[in-house]
Amino acid sequence: MAPVDPHSFTDSAHPLTTHVALSLYFDFPSSTIHAAALLTLAAPCSGQLSLDARSLAIHGVLDPQTLAPLSFTLSPPDAVKGSLLSVALDSHASVLVLYSTSPDSSALQWLSPPQTFNKTHPFVYTQCQSIHARSVFPCQDTPAARICYSAKLNVPRELSAVMSARHAGRRDPVAGDVSEGFKKGGSAAGLNLESLWCGDRRVVEEFVMEQPIPPYLFAFAVGELGFREVGPRTRVYSENVAGVLDSAASEFAGTEEMIRQGEKLFGEYPWERFDLLVLPPSFPYGGMENPRMVFLTPTVIKGDASGAQVVAHELAHSWTGNLITNINNEHFWLNEGFTTYAERRIVEVVQGEERAILSMGIGWRGLNEEMERFKDNMEFTKLKTNQEGIDPDNVYSQVPYEKGFQFLARIERQIGRSAFDEFTKKYIENFKFKSIDTETFLEFLKANVPGIEKEVDLKLWTEGTGIPPDAYEPVSDLYTKIVSLANEFKLGKIPGEDEVATWQGQEWELYLENLPKCVEASQVLALDARYRMSESKDYEVKVAFLQMAISSKCRDYYPEVEKTLKEVGRMKYLRPLYTALVQGSGNEEEKILAKRLFAEARECYHPIAQGVVESILAKNL
Ligand SMILES: [Zn+2]
Repeated sequence: MAPVDPHSFTDSAHPLTTHVALSLYFDFPSSTIHAAALLTLAAPCSGQLSLDARSLAIHGVLDPQTLAPLSFTLSPPDAVKGSLLSVALDSHASVLVLYSTSPDSSALQWLSPPQTFNKTHPFVYTQCQSIHARSVFPCQDTPAARICYSAKLNVPRELSAVMSARHAGRRDPVAGDVSEGFKKGGSAAGLNLESLWCGDRRVVEEFVMEQPIPPYLFAFAVGELGFREVGPRTRVYSENVAGVLDSAASEFAGTEEMIRQGEKLFGEYPWERFDLLVLPPSFPYGGMENPRMVFLTPTVIKGDASGAQVVAHELAHSWTGNLITNINNEHFWLNEGFTTYAERRIVEVVQGEERAILSMGIGWRGLNEEMERFKDNMEFTKLKTNQEGIDPDNVYSQVPYEKGFQFLARIERQIGRSAFDEFTKKYIENFKFKSIDTETFLEFLKANVPGIEKEVDLKLWTEGTGIPPDAYEPVSDLYTKIVSLANEFKLGKIPGEDEVATWQGQEWELYLENLPKCVEASQVLALDARYRMSESKDYEVKVAFLQMAISSKCRDYYPEVEKTLKEVGRMKYLRPLYTALVQGSGNEEEKILAKRLFAEARECYHPIAQGVVESILAKNL
């Protein structure tokens, strides 16, 4: 009996779940889902089966064949892992759990109509990475356990649903959808589920996922959705608002070309469809690589090359991450480092080497800043980390992405691109649909690239802290020019209009990232007077600028900071802005402002983002 994952109650002595069949009744007024989950195990099991659950009300656990109740206990919640749902089994190969989610389910954001684009219909969506699937259904919530699933979603007729799965149909609800077990669960919760399920103006959307995925890739969204076709295997979905759909469709028009280039590099696209869903602005990430249906923040739609780079990243996950998954979050670099490498290879082919180098340069800056952030806790500057008792959302950083990228690029430099490409294809073929750890990767590397350990210090790269001496700052004429202009700013020089005439968002982002964090307020004002960054439609630019304005106590920009923190919920922007407001001393006014803004904006953030901002404030106030 041993845990397989520091973030899960899953026990190595128990069979893993292979399939989950879900019936989900969405009750928007109470922000609740009433549900039945039928879990099928790889083998019959006797004794206590350990499942993960977080803020679920369990109405009963039944033997699915006989509908006899199975005894269970639900532990008080652990701050990181949630509750242990322990079910007593006697040669059972499946269990039926009847439950309701809670309005504060950490995976779900329920948006009221005013919080959406269309302002007329509610919306709900999931974000299950890293350990939030357990707040939607009880499961062995570890990437070590890959599951197939099927789902029936009962939603109001004016809404529709998408999932990280094949859409199998939309139809009227029928009483037969509500099994005897599900009915029992409903009555235990004081509900007549059959009449609710078959109620007026309800519809059932059915989905099937036949390829095994880690639970963190389970995903749905329900709202008034529309779509545009942008390629033979790609639709762009969003709320059914013409302006949003049209700009998303034009931003992502090049998706099919990216998929083809990805296939040339990494092998056939394995998930059949590559659809995109643009979410409301509260979505906490840039993108989430849910298979068949990538979720995206609307902030990536800005009419330049960088939006496509986020799509390239999520596409790259189709091979590295979704196909080969880290066995638990301590090996997250295998997922994100490989994907960042693969993303830049796709960008290099589709947008050219210069764009790929700029993206590496921004990553290099970001990696160096993380060293500063973790200077008192260097554990999280390692690729392979110890996360016992650690909430993965609180230590989420660029390290697995950018140090992972650097490690793979180092190996590539050593053995040459064509040998590394051959290795990567073999690696993907060998481990597809598996979840692996760092040691497995290193063994495979050493077996396939004999002598690599003599050339590259594999232990230092994977287990050492900080940035290894053989990491590599990217170089190109443009990159060098931007960094030298940023250095000149320290001497009081603002770049001339001719020098920046061809710059896009990424050039400005790199420029701002290379400026000192804190300068004279007059310099902030002078820079903005010329280039109007505080009003940029590109949040990367605007947020980098506002971060400098806050650190320089240039209070003219606080209304813009307030507006920004109230209109987006992407953690990439919340983290630096709230941190700049509350970090350090002598900034009492800023601390008060941060507290007020969070109190007012909190409702607009996804629960994961709420937790992250809370932890930033708790550490600094
Ligand atoms: Zn990623």
